[in-house]
Amino acid sequence: PHHDTQLHFLVIPLMSPGHYIPTIDIAKLLAQHNVRVTIVTTPVNALRFGSILHQPIKSGLPIHFLELPFQTEKFGLPEGCESLDDAPNLGMAKEFFIAQSSLQQQVEQYIETLNPKPNCIISASFLLWPAETAKMFQIPRVIFDGMNCFTQMCNHVLHLTKVHETVSESESFVLPGLPDRIELTRSQLPFAFNSGSKDVKDFHEKLLVAESEAYGVIINSFHELENQYADEFQKIKEDKAWCVGPLSLCYKDVSEKVQRGNKSSISEIECIKWLDSQETGSVIYACLGSISRVDPDQLVELALALESSRKPFIWVVRAGPNNTPKIEKWIEEEGFEERTKERGLLIRGWAPQLVVLSHVAIGGFLTHCGWNSTLEGVCAGVPMVTWPQFQEQFFNEKLVVQVLRIGVSVGAQNVVHWGEEEKSGVQVKSEELRKAIEIVMEEGKEGEERRKRAKELSVMAHKGIEEGGSSYRNMTRLIDDIRNQVRLGN
Ligand code: UDP
Repeated sequence: PHHDTQLHFLVIPLMSPGHYIPTIDIAKLLAQHNVRVTIVTTPVNALRFGSILHQPIKSGLPIHFLELPFQTEKFGLPEGCESLDDAPNLGMAKEFFIAQSSLQQQVEQYIETLNPKPNCIISASFLLWPAETAKMFQIPRVIFDGMNCFTQMCNHVLHLTKVHETVSESESFVLPGLPDRIELTRSQLPFAFNSGSKDVKDFHEKLLVAESEAYGVIINSFHELENQYADEFQKIKEDKAWCVGPLSLCYKDVSEKVQRGNKSSISEIECIKWLDSQETGSVIYACLGSISRVDPDQLVELALALESSRKPFIWVVRAGPNNTPKIEKWIEEEGFEERTKERGLLIRGWAPQLVVLSHVAIGGFLTHCGWNSTLEGVCAGVPMVTWPQFQEQFFNEKLVVQVLRIGVSVGAQNVVHWGEEEKSGVQVKSEELRKAIEIVMEEGKEGEERRKRAKELSVMAHKGIEEGGSSYRNMTRLIDDIRNQVRLGN
C-alpha cells in the first residue's frame, strides 16, 4: 500500500561546516525515521567530515552520498577548497557559491535517472539553484538555513518594514513588532540589509521569492526555547515550519560526538584527560566557529583576557589560512602557551566541541554566536560570553543575552561584512573581554541564576528530542506532511 513506500529525500547542504554538519544531522534523524536520504557532497567534504554517516554500512542507516566533482580552479578558488572555511578569505564567498552552483546540472542529471523521483529536496535558501531544480521536477523543496525562529522573525520584520533603511550605520533602532524590545545598530545587521550593491540586492530579492515558493522550513531549535517566536514564525509559514532540534543531541556518547564534523586536532582522550583534571564548572571554553576570520590583533586581546581572568581555559586558535601564522607567531614570541600552561589548553585547528562542551568541567562558553555553537552551548547548559562577528550572529546574541538571559555580551559593535573585503569597525579590548568572562564565571547571585536558567534550558532541550517531545513530534509531522504531498500527487 501507498503509505508503506519508503520516502526519499535529496539533501543539498551548503559546503560550509556550520551548515554541512547540521544538515548531516537532519539526514541522520530522517533516516532513523526510515526515510531514505541522499546527500549531495564533494570529494574533499566526504573525506573531511569523517562522520559515521560517511560509512553507511557501519551506521546501518538508509543514507547514501552522491559525490560530485567540485571545480575549484575554474572559479578562481585554490585547489581542494571545497568548503567555505578553506577559502583564503571571506571575500571569496561569492566565487565559492558560484562554484557550488556548478553542481546543478549534475544533480539534475542524477534526478533524471531516478524513478520515482525524490519526494523532497532539502537545501539552504542561500542556494538558488536547488529551488529551480525542485520546480523543474515538481518536488517540494524544504529550506534549511540553520537559523532559529528568533532570527527568522528579525529578518522577517526587517524585510517587511525596511525600518533599517531609515537609520544611519551606527544608529541603534528597535525592531518593530517583536515580543521583546530588540535594539540593534544598522551595522550589526546581516550583509543583505547593508549592502548598497544592486547585484546583492537583486540576489536577495530572488532569495525572498524562492523562499516564499518553498514548501516549508526546517529549524534547528526547539519550541520551548523560543515559544513566542516559534509561534509567530509558524503562523507566517502557515504551519510549514518544523523545529526539530537541537540537532547536535542526536549524538549520544563520546565516540559518536567526536565523529561529528571535522577530525579534531587533539585526541579526545588527551582533551578529556585535561578536562578531568579541572574542577567542575571552572573552565571557560573559547571558540569562534569555523569561518569567522578574526583579526590576529583581536585574538591577542582574547588571549590576554583569558590569561588575566585567571580561570582555567581552552582556547581554540584559528584565524583563517592567511592569519593563523600571525597569531601563532605572537603565541611563540610571547611564550604565551608556556606562561599559561598550568591552566590553559590551546587547541590549534579543530576542537571536538561537543565533547568539550558536555564535560562537567566547563563553566562558560565564549562564542561568536554562530547558531550551531550557541545551541550546543544551550544543550550543555552553560552560560555564554557572546562575541558576535557578522551575519545573523548579532541576532543570536540578543536571543542569548536579552531573551534567554543566559549570556553576557562583550559589547562588540563591529561588523566584518560577508562577501566583502574584510573590514572591521569598533574593536573589542581585552579588558572588555575579561570583564564579560568574569561576570559569566562569577559565583554571585546573578551568576547562579544565569547558570540555573542555562541548566533548565538544557533539560528542556533534551526532552524535546526524546520520543514524544516537541522536536520529535515535529520531525514526524514533517515526514507526514511530505507523505501527504506524495499521496496527493504533488
Ligand atoms: N566546530 C567544532 N570545532 C571547532 C569549530 C567548530 O566542532 O573547532 C563545530 C561547532 O560545534 C558547530 C560548527 O562547527 O557545530 C560551527 O557552526 P556555527 O554555526 O557555530 O558557526 P560557523 O562556523 O558557521 O560560523
